[in-house]
Amino acid sequence: MPIGIDWGGTSIKAAIVDGAAVRGFARVETGGEPAVILDAIAGLVRVLDPRAEGVGVAIPGEVRPDGRCWRLPNVPGFEDVNIAAELHARLGLPIGVENDATAAALAERLYGWGNQYGSFLLVTLGTGVGGGLVLDGHVRRGTGGFAGEIGHVLVESTEQAWLCGCGKRGCMEAYAGTAGLLRRYAECGKQAGTIKEIADADDEGTQAVWQQLGWALGTGLGVINNVLDLDAIVFTGGVANSLSRFEGLIRKAMQARAFAPPLAQLPLLTSRLGEQAGVIGAAHLPAAM
Ligand SMILES: [Zn+2]
Repeated sequence: MPIGIDWGGTSIKAAIVDGAAVRGFARVETGGEPAVILDAIAGLVRVLDPRAEGVGVAIPGEVRPDGRCWRLPNVPGFEDVNIAAELHARLGLPIGVENDATAAALAERLYGWGNQYGSFLLVTLGTGVGGGLVLDGHVRRGTGGFAGEIGHVLVESTEQAWLCGCGKRGCMEAYAGTAGLLRRYAECGKQAGTIKEIADADDEGTQAVWQQLGWALGTGLGVINNVLDLDAIVFTGGVANSLSRFEGLIRKAMQARAFAPPLAQLPLLTSRLGEQAGVIGAAHLPAAM
């Protein structure tokens, strides 16, 4: 059975995956030089099954067509590193490496809403806003590995538009990512360190945060759906648990951008796979992509 690796910011999870089921599990907290992190990943594989049929790695960044990383925004030193080649040299196993949101979209295609919808966007809501794109049953990775990276669609074009982590102004992520949502809450005179605290408070600041989130997502997704005319949009990540609180606001903003009314009437769903989507999607990378 294959092993899936889900690489978060500081913690790396690994699991033996059988279809949509997770059989064995290991985890390591790691950081530092790329060689140290790659050794730690290889160590996880050896602990779980050194003769696994393949290893897939979902990385917090993008992979170029030649297999080199573009960069990992939160893990320094990985610019131009070929993670698949490095792990193959350590393990001698088939290795697949893909962007984490794209890997989660593969899991959703295989074992989630993909059973019902052929073309959908998986939207990951967390520190940033990312995504993976499935078109007509196929995961679209893109010519450069960037397909589905929806967070940097322009939603606000004024000079006062909020600055995004990418260095540009007015991106959807600047308003719908964690930093933007915390900023909105603070503007209401409230204090919170996490989105969960904001959701739990359920005060007027929380309402302002949902308004901003719904507007930013709906505006960006409305633009995107004018191009793609999808079957559904699937949300995942911690904030997606609160979708019912801002779903109507997303749809209202989508309607404002939709070229034609049907483009704002598609199902808005939450992922069926939950936190395991990363390792499940990763494990199926060597065979699928
Ligand atoms: Zn941006």
